[in-house]
Parts: sequence; structure tokens; C-alpha cells
Amino acid sequence: MLNVVIFGPPGAGKGTQSEKLIEKYGFVHISTGDMFRAHIKNQTPLGKKVIEYTDNGLLVPDSITIDMLQEEVNNNPQAKGFLFDGFPRTVPQAEALDALMEKNGSAIHAVVALEVTEEEVRGRIRKRREVSQRADDEDEKVNKRIDEYFNKTIHVLPFYEQQGRLERVNGIGDIDEIFENICKALA
Ligand code: AMP
Repeated sequence: MLNVVIFGPPGAGKGTQSEKLIEKYGFVHISTGDMFRAHIKNQTPLGKKVIEYTDNGLLVPDSITIDMLQEEVNNNPQAKGFLFDGFPRTVPQAEALDALMEKNGSAIHAVVALEVTEEEVRGRIRKRREVSQRADDEDEKVNKRIDEYFNKTIHVLPFYEQQGRLERVNGIGDIDEIFENICKALA
């Protein structure tokens, strides 16, 4: 069982690379952002609780996010491996993920950090916004999401680095080449 986290700021290419990784490795894909968007679309109680955060580009509180993720992992007992996308975003989330994996007799084997400069992601998101239907892709909200990454989420990296589980991959360049480098890092 191989469990991987794909990590990077909004606009780093996590979605694109996740699709390719799922095809190659057969991962069960868990994207907390996608899960929150589905809850909001379906107007579930959870969706109603989190919309004030997601709509403003703010992180949803850890307790809500961790509970939702745990449930999703437990709903997939047959998974051969998980690809976590957009989770963890804080150190308590990273610790909770390790505890959950351990409880299931497994572990997070690698965290692939797509390295893209702040300037590059702001440019990419600006372009994506022109075609996107995402409520949180509006100017000010996008800026807030990028700020949340560079102020808060980035602090998760040393947690994994100190334990030798961090794989840094250059996220700028040709999509297939980036994918190859990710696969090499996982080999
Ligand atoms: P994403 O599509 O991963 O950028 O997530 C969209 C939004 O969902 C984020 O801006 C946050 O409001 C929320 N979100 C997703 N994942 C998390 C997480 N792990 N912790 C807190 N909030 C999250």
C-alpha cells in the first residue's frame, strides 16, 4: 500500500498531476477541497457550516476537516493506496493523518511538494479565473487562499522534511516532465 500526499499552493498543478497519478497507481483520491465543494453544492449541514470559510479563501477549522477526512478514509477499507490532495494543511492535520494511517496499519510514505513561486501561482490563477466556475476563484478570494498557503500551510513542510518523507519536485515546466519527476520521487 502506497499513500501519498500531493502538496502545493493553489494553482501549483495538484489537480492535473493527481489525475495522472491516480491513473498510474490506482489511488483512491481524497481531495478535501472537492469534498467541501460537494457538501456546499448539496447544501448539507456540513456544507452550510463551511461555506463562510471556503467562500472567503480561509482554512476550515481543523476539527471539521479532520472528522470529514477520517470518515472518508474509513469509507474506503478496500483502498490499495490513498492520494491526499489539499490535506493536510496544518501540522495538527498532519499529525491526525499519521495517527489515522497508523490505526489502519499503514502510513504516509511520501509528501510530494510541487514547488512553484508565489508570482507564478498568482499568474496561473488569474488565467484560470477567466474560465473557472469556482466561487473561490474571484480576485480577492484567490489572493486570500494564496496568502493562507504561504502564511499557514507551508509550515507543514518542515514536519515531513524532518522525518525524511518530503519529496520536492519542480512544478514549473512541461506537465509530463513534472509527472515523470514525481514518479521518480515515488520509486
Ligand atoms: P482547495 O480546492 O484544496 O484549494 O480547497 C478549497 C477550500 O476548501 C480552501 O480554500 C479551504 O477553505 C477549504 N479546505 C480544503 N482543504 C482544507 C484543509 N485541509 N483544511 C482547511 N480547509 C480546507
